[in-house]
Amino acid sequence: MAPDSVLPSYSPAVSSQDPYLTAEHLLFRDQVRRFVDTEVKPYAANWEEAGHVPRHVLTRMGELGFLGVRYPEEYGGSGMDTLATAILAEELGRSTFGGFAITVLVHTDMASPHLANAGSPEQQARWLPDLIAGRKISAVAVTEPDAGSDVAGMRSTARRDGDEWVLNGTKMYITNGVLGDVVFVAAKTDLAAKGSRGISIFAVERGTPGFSVGRALDKQGWLSSDTAELVFQDCRVPAANMLGEENRGFYAIMRNFQNERVVLGAQAMGEAQAAIALTLDWVRQRKAFGATLWDKQAIRQKLAMLSAKVEAARRLVYHAAWMDAQGQDCVREVSMVKALCGELVNEVMYACQQFHGGMGYLRESAIERMVRDARIQSIGGGATEVMLEEVAKRM
Ligand SMILES: Cc1cc2nc3c(=O)[nH]c(=O)nc-3n(C[C@H](O)[C@H](O)[C@H](O)COP(=O)(O)OP(=O)(O)OC[C@H]3O[C@@H](n4cnc5c(N)ncnc54)[C@H](O)[C@@H]3O)c2cc1C
Repeated sequence: MAPDSVLPSYSPAVSSQDPYLTAEHLLFRDQVRRFVDTEVKPYAANWEEAGHVPRHVLTRMGELGFLGVRYPEEYGGSGMDTLATAILAEELGRSTFGGFAITVLVHTDMASPHLANAGSPEQQARWLPDLIAGRKISAVAVTEPDAGSDVAGMRSTARRDGDEWVLNGTKMYITNGVLGDVVFVAAKTDLAAKGSRGISIFAVERGTPGFSVGRALDKQGWLSSDTAELVFQDCRVPAANMLGEENRGFYAIMRNFQNERVVLGAQAMGEAQAAIALTLDWVRQRKAFGATLWDKQAIRQKLAMLSAKVEAARRLVYHAAWMDAQGQDCVREVSMVKALCGELVNEVMYACQQFHGGMGYLRESAIERMVRDARIQSIGGGATEVMLEEVAKRM
């Protein structure tokens, strides 16, 4: 076996050999990776302390073109495809700061797609340039205290009154909820319709009377991501703020879930790769029983198997992203991605923390934060069980 010093460093990205990625994708990946290395990693521990990502970081990402990867160039976007968003998510995941990654990805790939996919030209012209530039940050409010996995069970309502809609209800666990400027809110507009049929989506701006932050929510991980309970109490929004067709919001949510879940899978696999890389560094220098931990077959085989699983899962992420980019129905593959990656990132974090020994339990070690950050990934954006039902239905 080669001595440690000449072992190649762990480098899962096959780069130019990758059948899914073009030269443009690879260039984009390099740009994001450089940004993460120089402008995120050195500072993000402070953002964890502060409980949010500073706005200047998001506007900087806007300047670099990272917030409008798939959006039309006329609004400042780059007009790239689903693979590019998977790359963005994977690279942000590799930062090792899940709270930072999700702050950005909710804005780029979970909230603003509601506007990009269903918004009228007037609505897009009104908000997209600011969202792409990072001058405004977006959130999406679907989940409620009594309706999460079961989206159709939501209770928030919107009643038409002349040229306005009057929103009432409470939304729970909303990422970017405290600091976001525009929230895409789902509410029932037809109370008589069967659950999924009577939902519509509204753009609600911060400062609209009747819209308030109930409370900021304290969490196990993702500490640099702001998460809130949002309250709508006789909140009047202009009729022009409804996105897409009245009562068709459920289908818009389901459509956007596909992009969201590819991105969540990619983020998870970015985190998993980073965890394996930093654990490799650790086990190669840490000694026990007269040799490094890497010399223990049990440890290196476990890391080898995890790296095989991560490589397989990220291939599925890229395949699902490619299918989406081709306009193919990929609900089955995307559901597999979400279920697999959400579980696998936790399996990886558990083993990597184990191999760090006591150091992995200390707040000062990256792996400790990564373990906490990963836990939500089998729950949020489609819990594993819910995703497996989607796969099972298609078997
Ligand atoms: C930090 C954080 C950020 C979030 N950000 C947002 C956001 O920005 N916008 C937003 O709208 N929502 C957001 N969410 C909500 C998130 O998507 C939901 O928490 C998630 O969908 C699960 O819903 P729930 O919490 O109501 O759990 P429930 O639906 O009550 O489910 C609880 C558990 O039951 C199991 N389960 C559920 N359904 C089934 C089933 N059919 N079969 C078997 N088991 C099942 C799963 O294990 C699940 O975890 C966020 C949540 C968190 C914690």
